[in-house]
Formats: sequence, structure tokens, C-alpha cells
Amino acid sequence: MDKDTRLKLAVQKSGRLTDPSIDLLTRCGLKLARGKDQLLAFGENMPLDVLFVRDDDIPDLVQEDVCDLGLVGLNVIEEKRLALAARGIVASFDSLRLLDFGRCRLSIALPQQSPWSGPASLDGKRIATTYPNLLAQYLARHGVRAQIVTLSGAVEIAPRLGRADAICDLVSTGSTLAANHLVEVETVLESHAVLIRTPVALAPVKTEWVERLLMRVDGVQQVKESKYIMLHAPRSALAQIRQLLPGSESPTIIPLEGHPDRVAVHAVCRETVFWETLESLKRAGASAVLVLPVEKMLA
Ligand code: ATP
Ligand code: ZN
Repeated sequence: MDKDTRLKLAVQKSGRLTDPSIDLLTRCGLKLARGKDQLLAFGENMPLDVLFVRDDDIPDLVQEDVCDLGLVGLNVIEEKRLALAARGIVASFDSLRLLDFGRCRLSIALPQQSPWSGPASLDGKRIATTYPNLLAQYLARHGVRAQIVTLSGAVEIAPRLGRADAICDLVSTGSTLAANHLVEVETVLESHAVLIRTPVALAPVKTEWVERLLMRVDGVQQVKESKYIMLHAPRSALAQIRQLLPGSESPTIIPLEGHPDRVAVHAVCRETVFWETLESLKRAGASAVLVLPVEKMLA
């Protein structure tokens, strides 16, 4: 019965995606009743429950229709897609939204002294990775023959242990690579978190909630950098001031009582508002400039 009325969404139990995933859901208005270390958290104000699992299990859970939705890295999805294809199975999870967290890249890195003159330098080398399928695809694309050493973790120390000549691993800041005297030379995949869903048709109630969730996700993502700007300006400077407002559509212009030549301008700016912008606005004649955070947005 519940299976037909409540959405089940898989989220990483404990790792880099956990906090940003829960943060996104919270911003979407979801209140979770979550006992400590509970596997399944009940959505108190939406028919949506969250299942906490290892990120590697998320594509399977969605593929096998145990969960309707999942929040997981593109790297995990694409590796899974290739692994399934190798077994003759077509992956059937649909990506609904790219999300603005979990950014990283799957890259090839070499010990600092190793020569590099393009992918051909990897010929005949041993490359350690936890992403054998993505790496194999990259090597095939570049016509490189190399030996893939599949590890389950601690890839970055493989060269020092003499187990590999290069690695193919996730990088975000590069500090782990630097600490291990490795240099990043090629990007295999740019990654970020993705919201995926089962391709199986859902009951109408569930479909409606997926739509609502997507609208809220879009709103949350738009709001992140958005600001509401209010200022006073001479009518004569309006054209210039509108140009200075970053990423804003049509601002609201309001007459100012007793000042026929001045107006109030209110605008939503969808890009970061820098101090420099405010200074330029002031030079253009703006005064009483206020920049307010935007909490929610529904297009
Ligand atoms: P689990 O126990 O769930 O299997 P894990 O060790 O595989 O955890 P994490 O290290 O928490 O996973 O990474 C989860 C995801 O976070 C990655 O698959 C990737 O999409 C993203 N990510 C972002 N930046 C990085 C990074 N610098 N290194 C690794 N993953 C990153
Ligand atoms: Zn994992």
C-alpha cells in the first residue's frame, strides 16, 4: 500500500554527499523524522521517505525499483551504466536534475617525475582505480593499451606501494594528490551530484510529488546566489542602472513621493552581487541601496 503512495529516495548514508543532500531536501521543505543511525527516515510533511545507503548501491536501488529516486554522483552513475552494459544490461535510471553540489572530477594522475606527453604516455602502464569501466572507456577512446588495476580504495598510495604507475581517481581540490606527490594530467569525467529516478511509471500521487519536488529543487538552486536589490535612482540613469544589475530581468520601477525625477528600483539578481557592482551603481547615481537575501523562489 505504502509503496504506491509514498516516494522512496536513496541518499548516501555517511559521506561527502550526505549533508548537501539533506540540506537540499530540507530547503525543499521536507521534515524528516530520523532516529540516530536509522536506515529509513520518514518524511513527516511529504509522502517521501529517505533511505540511507552506501552511494555505490544507489543506482542499483533505483534500477531495481526499490527506490523511486536517488541522489548520487554522476561518477557513480556512469561507472554503473558501463558496468551494466558490459553484462548486456541497459541501465534504466533517468537523470532528472544536475545539482550544484558534489563537484569533482575523475582524473588521471602520475607521480611527479613521470614524463607526460598526452594519453599515449600511458601505453603499457599499470593504472590503479576504483572506476575500471570509466577508465577502460577513456583508454579505448584514446587507443591506449594499459593495465587497469582495480582497487576498492586508497588508490592514491598505489604508485608509492609499487602497485601502479598512475592512478585514475576523484579529485576536487587536488590537495590529496599533492600530498601523495602526484600530478593531475587528464580529466576523464567532470562530475557533480544528480537526482535520478526509476523509469518505471509511478502512481499519479507519486508522479505529482516528483513534479513538486523538482519545482522546489529548481527554486532552491536558483535562489542560492540570488539577491533582491532595492535602490533609489534618478530617472535619467535608469538605463545604465538596469545594465549594472547582474542577471536581473525586468525590475520594478516605483515613483517616489515628492521626487518626480527619482524612482525606486526593485530587482531580483540571479548572479552574485559584488561590492564592485554596488560601487558602480552608486557612481551611476543610485542611493539607499539595499541587498537582501532571497529565501524562496517559484518561477
Ligand atoms: P560510501 O561509503 O557511501 O561508499 P565513498 O567513500 O564511496 O562512500 P565519498 O568519498 O563520501 O564516498 O564520496 C561520495 C561522492 O562524493 C563521490 O562519489 C563523488 O561523486 C563526490 N565527491 C566530491 N568530491 C570528491 C572528492 N574530492 N573525492 C571523492 N569524491 C568526491
Ligand atoms: Zn562509495
